[in-house]
Amino acid sequence: MKKWLFVLAALTAIILLGQLLQEQKLEITSKHGEVDHNKKIELVAIEADQVHRGKLLLINAQSQLSAEGIAEDIVEFARDQAAGAGFALENDTIMLSDEVLQALQKMLAAARQDGLEGFMLTSGYRSMEQQAMLYEQQGSDYALPAGYSEHNSGLAVDISSIAMKMEVAPEGAWLRDHAADYGFILRYPPNKQHITGIQYEPWHFRYVGLPHSLIMQEHGWVLEEYLQYLAENPNLSVGTKDGHFTIDYYSYSSDLLIKLPSDASYTISGDNVGGVIVTSWVEGEL
Ligand SMILES: [Zn+2]
Repeated sequence: MKKWLFVLAALTAIILLGQLLQEQKLEITSKHGEVDHNKKIELVAIEADQVHRGKLLLINAQSQLSAEGIAEDIVEFARDQAAGAGFALENDTIMLSDEVLQALQKMLAAARQDGLEGFMLTSGYRSMEQQAMLYEQQGSDYALPAGYSEHNSGLAVDISSIAMKMEVAPEGAWLRDHAADYGFILRYPPNKQHITGIQYEPWHFRYVGLPHSLIMQEHGWVLEEYLQYLAENPNLSVGTKDGHFTIDYYSYSSDLLIKLPSDASYTISGDNVGGVIVTSWVEGEL
């Protein structure tokens, strides 16, 4: 090869490499979102127990719910109130997080508008004591020990049909299609038993809130998969039909300070396994 040809090739390679690096740099910038330096920033300190509190807690055989993870807004809802709202209760009352109950009523009202009137709630919040008793009575084949059931958090509800098994009921089909619009996920879908450790439960719905339920639905992820994804992709920007959300994952450390635009509204949830997830949005842009 002639010397000048070699020099030309080397120069071309350097220019191409330079462009490639520049493109990568740009990509990283966009991945972390646009930082508007004119916006005022608020610093939020995170307390240690935050990892174990919130709507995104992972509760499974490897990740036990601790006492601080029980929803602080648990309320009791009676059969006549349920009847007034258009659904049945298996027992005299059901207990749930109030936020979850509000979302649930909104969801079931929408289902009713679509002509589905056979919903019955069979289980909501169970105290650790009730769970321990259930485990003792039913054994490990049918119940989970205290702290390992999502029902202990107040964020899970079992919904059945008064007419038939949820697996084949139109109520079940409607929920599988629409629950995510109201912040709920089918927590133990078929084909995911190897990840959740629990076989298909067409009745068990878990509240995670928006926009998380929509992302999980879109990708077909169970909570285990979604939390893993967030840990690997810690800065997400999510556009929904209702507006734009930012989701930031942080690995917890005692000196963790979270930067947020001071005009943003936000919720913070732990994942129960060492991470903290901040969901923020700008009011009025939703
Ligand atoms: Zn359940």
